[in-house]
Amino acid sequence: MPALFLGHGNPMNAVEGNAWTQAWERLAGEMPRPRAILSVSAHWYVPGGRVTGEERPRTIHDFGGFPRALYEVQYPAPGSPELAQRVRALFAPQPVHLDRQWGLDHGTWAVLVHLFPGADIPVVQLGIDETQAAHEHDRLARRLRPLREEGVLVLGSGNVVHNLHTYVWGQRAVQPYEWALRFESTIRHWISAHHLDQVVAYEALGADAALAAPTPEHFLPLLYVLAQHASGEPITFPVEGFDGGSVSMLGVRIG
Ligand code: ZN
Repeated sequence: MPALFLGHGNPMNAVEGNAWTQAWERLAGEMPRPRAILSVSAHWYVPGGRVTGEERPRTIHDFGGFPRALYEVQYPAPGSPELAQRVRALFAPQPVHLDRQWGLDHGTWAVLVHLFPGADIPVVQLGIDETQAAHEHDRLARRLRPLREEGVLVLGSGNVVHNLHTYVWGQRAVQPYEWALRFESTIRHWISAHHLDQVVAYEALGADAALAAPTPEHFLPLLYVLAQHASGEPITFPVEGFDGGSVSMLGVRIG
């Protein structure tokens, strides 16, 4: 099973059709059908390890000020308490709390409505522990490697560049900022060259990193996907582009 990182960008992508959503749809047709999906979403950035344990996870509308159509989206995929327990076992002895409150947030469903619109594949979300540094996330993420062999799609949903202070709302085709292009191109180069340790140490990019990832939660899901890479395996970029000048929509496929 491949592993996928997708830049989810503006939540409106869930209800729109554009070059990115079309690329997401194509991607699903080019992969084997997963037995289950483990989603690491930027929007579940909390202290401590957490995994969703519900049989029927809720669709969470975790944003404000968007059109009503976005609040009406439901993604009624079943959960998988079995996969949640598998993740806990793989992470042990690092504790992972079995959560029954959260459900699926828009980082997960805004892309899955396009990849798997039938919502018939079980989905579990893994929280991002905000108390851990990037290299710790990389170390933990490597423990998930057996899941691909078990038919589980490891999905990371965030954005390689995500700065909402500089984002130009309503002008999606605006020219990207120079620092945004520079940061994305460096990360992309490192990924292409399989220098994944350098991606984990992205904060070494200094001022560009501080602008491109002013908070780490949209970048960290990328590390969960890159950690699934087996030596010599291909890495491709099935989705590209910038939204509003400072949100990179770059997608990364492992395998
Ligand atoms: Zn987001």
